[in-house]
Amino acid sequence: MGQVSTLPESEGRREACGVFGIYAPGRSVAPVVVDGLHALQHRGQESAGMAVSDGQAMVVMKDMGLVSQVFNDYKIAGLVGHLAIGHTRYSTTGSSSWHNAQPMYRNAGGSEFAVAHNGNLTNVEELAGAIGMLPGTATSDSDLMAELVGRELAMSDGQEDQGALVGALMRVLPQLQGAFSLVLADRDCLVGVRDPNGFRPLCLGRLDDGWVLASETPALDIAGAHFVREVEPGELLVIGDAGCESHRPWPPAKVQPKLCIFEFVYLARPDSRLYGQELHAARVRMGEQLAEQSPTSADMVVGVPDSGIPAAEGYSRKSGVPFGHGLVKNRYIGRTFIDPEPGKRALGVRRKLNPLREAIAGRRLVVVDDSIVRGTTTRAIVAMLREAGAKEVHLRISSPPYRWPCYFGVDTGTRSELIAADLEVGEICDYVGADSLAYLSLDALKKATGVAGAGFCDACLTGEYPVPVPLRQLRSTPEQPAREEPSGTTGDRPVPAPAAQ
Ligand code: AMP
Repeated sequence: MGQVSTLPESEGRREACGVFGIYAPGRSVAPVVVDGLHALQHRGQESAGMAVSDGQAMVVMKDMGLVSQVFNDYKIAGLVGHLAIGHTRYSTTGSSSWHNAQPMYRNAGGSEFAVAHNGNLTNVEELAGAIGMLPGTATSDSDLMAELVGRELAMSDGQEDQGALVGALMRVLPQLQGAFSLVLADRDCLVGVRDPNGFRPLCLGRLDDGWVLASETPALDIAGAHFVREVEPGELLVIGDAGCESHRPWPPAKVQPKLCIFEFVYLARPDSRLYGQELHAARVRMGEQLAEQSPTSADMVVGVPDSGIPAAEGYSRKSGVPFGHGLVKNRYIGRTFIDPEPGKRALGVRRKLNPLREAIAGRRLVVVDDSIVRGTTTRAIVAMLREAGAKEVHLRISSPPYRWPCYFGVDTGTRSELIAADLEVGEICDYVGADSLAYLSLDALKKATGVAGAGFCDACLTGEYPVPVPLRQLRSTPEQPAREEPSGTTGDRPVPAPAAQ
């Protein structure tokens, strides 16, 4: 299966990103791109960028940092054009570099284009080998993709007509495997692509005077666009003078919708709509299902801000146990989850969350969160609540145990870093220090989405990957649960003694 050894090791890390594109003839769209990227900031906080075209030339501006750090009024004023794409990149371990900031830009024989990618390719090594790229020369899978399209464009003999980029994409896209929701632009047209599984979201919006593409619907809202529809898995949309045209680069047999179920659980904003469902309401239903499946006696239901709050509301509503605030989040601190050093991650939790002592002291708490991945954050939260005087802490998680690494755009590290990879629920409960722990079942999670019959990728929960994944990184498969790391040396996490029976 495809490996990623063509990339530096650190690039094997996954990233979930935000992408945005706009075509609005007669307008200067850069300020709208910045608004759209702000709405997608939760999908990526490492770097931000945009590429703008006025029909004559393309300008790219990108840098490390948050959207507000990369763009200011002065810089935005210098970005003139009616056509633009933008990107926010998820912070990952060891791969924070300007070169990996997006959009990726190429000038191929006079044809300029830029691409912004959300997802992760799984056949990087084959792709790089096929064009004779030496190991380490592509800085990321997105860079490799830009290279492939650029070479294809250059081979189309410097044609600069509007169809050149689309022609190159029609030839390159079927070679790619994995997850890719893309927005691209050349000097004249905006292109949106969703891989045949539609792992990552991408939606289409309409302006009075143009079109918008965005990872999530709140970015359409801020751009003043109304939602038209999701870009379909396996669809390529071309937006230009002729309007919006749909192309299908893949044969119908290849197209099988597998939207990441974690977009519903955690990744996407609660005010986003996916598969026609508003995610806040779906998350409340997850909490209701959790209360039905795993009731407990308690005085108060507390959600872990922000992602656990809707499910906590649902748990409270269904169980009748009052909902209350027990943790206050400092909104000026970024994500702690991905910090490579466990000590820093735990400290990061203290920086981000502080307990409301009067609300907590002496109380039996049901603490609801959306997921446990490594267990580090959860453990620190339980300890913090106990220090604040909680009498009991019953953890309820609104998704099933996260057991398998994601290869389709979420950075969760390797299998050895996932606490549920080979620990049972009781052992995890002991490790995080809770009085009890229960997870939502997969069936109940799907029911709570409101679209149980829709296509989902649930590989992180089941190990059933819809497309082949790089085995070197997988380290163990459902059929062969052999781990490279002996128990007890799984990164930062001590393996707890077996739970008492
Ligand atoms: P931990 O206990 O360290 O596994 O962290 C669990 C917390 O991480 C939960 O509050 C989740 O909302 C959050 N989380 C889950 N997946 C991700 C992700 N891909 N990136 C950042 N945070 C995440």
